[in-house]
Amino acid sequence: MKKLQTIKGSIAADSLGLILPHEHLFTDLRGPNAGGYAQAEASAVVNLVGPYLAEASASGVTAMIECSTVGVGRNLSILQSLADVTPIHLVAPTGVYRDAYIPNVLREVSEQFLAEMWTKELTEGIEGSSIRAGFIKLAMSDNDGPTALEVRNLRAAVMASQNTGAAIASHTIGGKVAMREMDVLEQAGLDLHRFIWIHAQTEPDISILKEAAQRGAYIELDSVGAPFQSQPELLETALALIAAGYTRQLLLSHDAGWYNPARADGLPEEGYRGYTALTSDFIPALLQRGLAQEQIRLITINNPADAFAF
Ligand SMILES: [Zn+2]
Repeated sequence: MKKLQTIKGSIAADSLGLILPHEHLFTDLRGPNAGGYAQAEASAVVNLVGPYLAEASASGVTAMIECSTVGVGRNLSILQSLADVTPIHLVAPTGVYRDAYIPNVLREVSEQFLAEMWTKELTEGIEGSSIRAGFIKLAMSDNDGPTALEVRNLRAAVMASQNTGAAIASHTIGGKVAMREMDVLEQAGLDLHRFIWIHAQTEPDISILKEAAQRGAYIELDSVGAPFQSQPELLETALALIAAGYTRQLLLSHDAGWYNPARADGLPEEGYRGYTALTSDFIPALLQRGLAQEQIRLITINNPADAFAF
């Protein structure tokens, strides 16, 4: 029985409903060397984020994958405080963000060291706690990725994934970087069915998305409801992947949120974006274009469960 590893423990993947595969609750984009990095009063975070979690829960969300990894603000005790006030099952990442955000202590270590550290976070617990990470979250530099350090991270992630079964999800802008990244993963021995291409909608050429899906990757369209993303275009991309036979590799999410400890009011620069556009707008639009409820169920419940459970 495959399980999702959440903040509150393991849960049978087939007991879940709607799962959001890419969201943010607490994120610090100032980087790990900034003063006050990833620090905030838990009560202030709960006060701001709690109502958005309540709204998501009321809309049918049963689990949420928190993608703020090491280097962009992962804070386990804050996530625990949020898990305490919501019925939504929250999943925390191991891994590390892109080159410019890698903490100094992780820049000099070996692939083997990282693989062991991440395996331990997935099997024993994070930072001395008994709370286990639920997946490996990485990021590639936008144009020249993967850099040498990012290649090291990818190879370490493959080892940790093979040790545990956990998925590797990677922030990857555009198809050129994605293809180079998938080459590294395959050469290191990963079956790309355990790989999630985060931000795949940033590649405008649909044939490249299909090629990545053909190689086995999950294609994550994670700008649902985002003001910077044309929603009609995102809809067409999703429909094209479904029409090409890749329904079971499609993931949909908002990449929304989050509490921002860089500001006294905790708000991100663009304001707080909630987690309900998928259910209120995008799913109805897919249904209107002829998708069956069964296909919606596969995409929003089964796919993220299959992607993240192990
Ligand atoms: Zn994100």
